[in-house]
Amino acid sequence: MSKPTDTTDLTKLDAAFFDMLRRVWGFQSLRPAQQEAIESILARRDTVVVMPTGGGKSLCYQAPAVHQGGLTIVVSPLLALMKDQVDSLNAVGVSALRIDSTLGSDEKREAARLIKSGSVRLLFVSPERMVSPEFLKFLEGSDVHAIAIDEAHCVSQWGHDFRPEYRQLGSLRSHFPKAAVHAFTATATEKVRLDIVEQLQLKHPRVLVSSFDRPNLTYRILPQVDLQSQLKEVCERHRGTGGIIYCLRRADVESITAYLAQQGFSVVGYHAGMSNEERKDAQDAFVNEQVDLVVATVAFGMGIDRPNVRFVAHAAMPKSIEHYQQETGRAGRDSLPSECILFFSVGDWITLRKITESSLIEAGASSEIIAASKKQLEEMANYCRTPKCRHRGLVEYFGQSYEQENCSACDVCLGDTDNVPDAKIIAQKIMSCVVRIGERFGVNYLVDVLVGSRSADVLNRKHDQLSTHGILKEVPKSQLRDWVYQLVGQELLAIDGGEYPIVKLGPQARSVLHGDAEPRLIRTVSKSEQRKQAVRFEATSHADMTLFEELRTLRKEISQASGVPPYVVFTDNVLLELSASRPSNEEKMLSINGIGTAKMESYGPSFLEAIRDYCDRTGTTQDVVWRTQESSSNPNAVRLSGTKSITIPLLKQQRPLDEIAAKAGVTVGTVANHLSELIQNNLVDSIDVWVPRDIQNRILAAADVVGREKLSPIYEHLQQQIGYETIRIVMTFESQNAASTDTAR
Ligand code: ADP
Repeated sequence: MSKPTDTTDLTKLDAAFFDMLRRVWGFQSLRPAQQEAIESILARRDTVVVMPTGGGKSLCYQAPAVHQGGLTIVVSPLLALMKDQVDSLNAVGVSALRIDSTLGSDEKREAARLIKSGSVRLLFVSPERMVSPEFLKFLEGSDVHAIAIDEAHCVSQWGHDFRPEYRQLGSLRSHFPKAAVHAFTATATEKVRLDIVEQLQLKHPRVLVSSFDRPNLTYRILPQVDLQSQLKEVCERHRGTGGIIYCLRRADVESITAYLAQQGFSVVGYHAGMSNEERKDAQDAFVNEQVDLVVATVAFGMGIDRPNVRFVAHAAMPKSIEHYQQETGRAGRDSLPSECILFFSVGDWITLRKITESSLIEAGASSEIIAASKKQLEEMANYCRTPKCRHRGLVEYFGQSYEQENCSACDVCLGDTDNVPDAKIIAQKIMSCVVRIGERFGVNYLVDVLVGSRSADVLNRKHDQLSTHGILKEVPKSQLRDWVYQLVGQELLAIDGGEYPIVKLGPQARSVLHGDAEPRLIRTVSKSEQRKQAVRFEATSHADMTLFEELRTLRKEISQASGVPPYVVFTDNVLLELSASRPSNEEKMLSINGIGTAKMESYGPSFLEAIRDYCDRTGTTQDVVWRTQESSSNPNAVRLSGTKSITIPLLKQQRPLDEIAAKAGVTVGTVANHLSELIQNNLVDSIDVWVPRDIQNRILAAADVVGREKLSPIYEHLQQQIGYETIRIVMTFESQNAASTDTAR
């Protein structure tokens, strides 16, 4: 977080606060950015909190409300969000209410009674209601301590989601002179931030801006080659988990939904042409984990608080970098590794440019707004086309600096795409073909000529006699099409015309045809290479993934029975920790981050029973303390252990080491290390499937001769015939068993 210039008006957090945090939320600590925000909010100083999605903004207003007492009003733009927040608070035993149009008059009366009695800590309302005279009257005499404005960027027309009703919130200042007003947002450029302060009339606000980086997200921007199969590949990689696929048009939503359904995925569509009810059903099904995938236009997402969205795929480029940050931000709110993948095509970019401009003109937007939106689109296209670390690009766009040399979590740093070595020759071939066919045809026809098609059109026009006919016949058509668009992106070609766009030479064409400019063409590396680098969400941990799936099912049952979304019961982080340590009693369960007393009481017994049952059935140890226990809230730690998510379950199935190594894309040595860790944690009863008994005996006999301190003398004694990894496994197993025999004695 950026350091505020003054340190006055900060309330140091005391032991009582942390006791409350542990008791109510079961959190062992605050994230640094949260601590600063909460200290400022507890001091009742107006505060602007800019924190990326998943940063933990809600706790910043919820925890002070509980600790300090009084009433905190939360202004939130969407009914669904309010409901989920109220459910989450009630689940941890905090008195929270929402007032909206769905309440009957009896419910409203009861709400009023509770508020007047002073027992309600958090009250959620929409911006319209917040400023309505009836509601202001309704609040008269209540002890309003603070007003928290969620999604505060909606106040600014420079933001990506301007809502006129937010503008009136400035009047709150005079209605509640004693209450502090706090603003929360995940996205804010300097301009939006200043607008928030001004529009909401904040008084000497403390503005706290966290790092915009989301280290748990892997960003990929790849050329669109064959969209459907590219999408299928991503969905396959994340099968069984939540994902959102954003499309440009309604028609794309429909066709992609149908395609993925036909491929056997659990999927729904979502777009503005559906009725309110259909949209609500789709959203509920996704939040309640009844479907895995939503294919949607950008209309979808703001009301979505599902924290375990494992991937966001863009079938087309978003309108701005802010939109991109907001939309991709919906992945991995729970800090677990998640993927954001965008399939870029210059064709879509051109379409988007047209759609955006015409819809703004239609809406009567000023020329200033139209110019600004064109610029944003251009910035987004440049971001897509520039081979620069995606994390760095995003963070720098928002005016912050990025320290890491290599993020290891984007297509550029992971090397997902390759530069095509002879790009200049290919570009010249494509461009001279454009000239030969007279700059009069579209992309598909151009590609036909380049690959040497003998279609009737080509023959009639005698284009089979051109020197460029078939000049790139070895390249797949989809790849060529993408290269044409890449050349458009570099202004070497241009696409002209309305209904039937034609390809012409671009303004920079001369520099390649006659000069020494070096165009750049990229291609995607093979899928198997990419798969090796794929980050799977189970990566946290030592979690037993079969148990995790069983606990997920239990969570779903409880969620359905109690009418709250699964994450309100427990988040995936909690389930992963439960499946890793497998607590046998309440005390051990309470030590898990994210389980407070109220949830322990409501859900603890069912989960303890399920864990006990699983461990009995499968002979799995309970109450395991992992030596390298990783905090699930530390995304960097999460990422480092990525491959374990693949190796450990396979080791538990006793698969051969080389097969596991190939599947996880690591060396056999790494798999052997993971196996040694399992052995050290007493999770392996026998190593016979990996090392035949006679080899074990040879190794142990060698150790008897040369000692057990180091592996190399054993290796040498065996005349380098048995690999180090095998020796390590055997020696670890022996020493672990000796240790457990000692303890037993
Ligand atoms: P935001 O509103 O900023 O997107 P949320 O408030 O939804 O973020 O929090 C994101 C996730 O982080 C939630 O699952 C929440 O339970 C978890 N979380 C928040 N604060 C902490 C904390 N101090 N320790 C552990 N988990 C936390």
